[in-house]
Amino acid sequence: CGIIGYVGPRQSQDILLAGLSRLEYRGYDSAGIAVIDGDGQLDMRKRAGKLAVLRDDLESTPMPNGTTGIGHTRWATHGGPTDANAHPHLADDDKLAVIHNGIIENFAELKSELVGDGFAFRSETDTEVAAVMIGREYARTKDLVQAFRSVVSRLEGAYTLLAMHEDHPGLVVGARRNSPLVIGLGEGENFLGSDVAAFVEHTRNALAIGQDEIVAITPEGVEVTDFSGAPVEVEAFEVTWDA
Ligand code: GLU
Repeated sequence: CGIIGYVGPRQSQDILLAGLSRLEYRGYDSAGIAVIDGDGQLDMRKRAGKLAVLRDDLESTPMPNGTTGIGHTRWATHGGPTDANAHPHLADDDKLAVIHNGIIENFAELKSELVGDGFAFRSETDTEVAAVMIGREYARTKDLVQAFRSVVSRLEGAYTLLAMHEDHPGLVVGARRNSPLVIGLGEGENFLGSDVAAFVEHTRNALAIGQDEIVAITPEGVEVTDFSGAPVEVEAFEVTWDA
């Protein structure tokens, strides 16, 4: 339902939680974040319930902070609102985290194919199928953008997908089809959001991502391509409403 991604020099945990709180108006039933910590390891925390439940959990049992992170508020469509079904979802090696808005219509068929290949699942979501598929492709090519490119062509329905991998601190990759995603351009830091509310307190310089496009953000820049890998023009705009 709500999505935020951050790459830059600052610790991401507070940026993610504040962004999710700005997206709360959309409604949600669970929330979660993942960061790549200073040791280059992926850490994740996710809880059913309001953002306050996640915040309290992080306060009583802090997790390592990190400068690269993704955050999600979920509106359950596949699988009830439980901790396990909350996002992020991890690939089977626990090194890649994925968040998702929307519905992957053909997830059941993809899931049974993966189960046949020996993959186990930890949630009832359509999203975890994408996480496992991107993880499997990444393991072959070690290229996260390439992994997205080969997986998105097999996904039907509506999705904004964001992923990061602990091999690549400073990189968040996203894709969108029938579901919104925008880039926020900062100074030495960049953002992704399901809408500009996710990052408006940090920057008002935004880029619109078109239908069926893949974006990679690093602290230094952004790259947008179509699903076949061809670079595309992105439209810059300024967020004018009051934050
Ligand atoms: N279909 C996904 C799920 O049920 C994502 C829902 C959403 O957009 O928050 O977990």
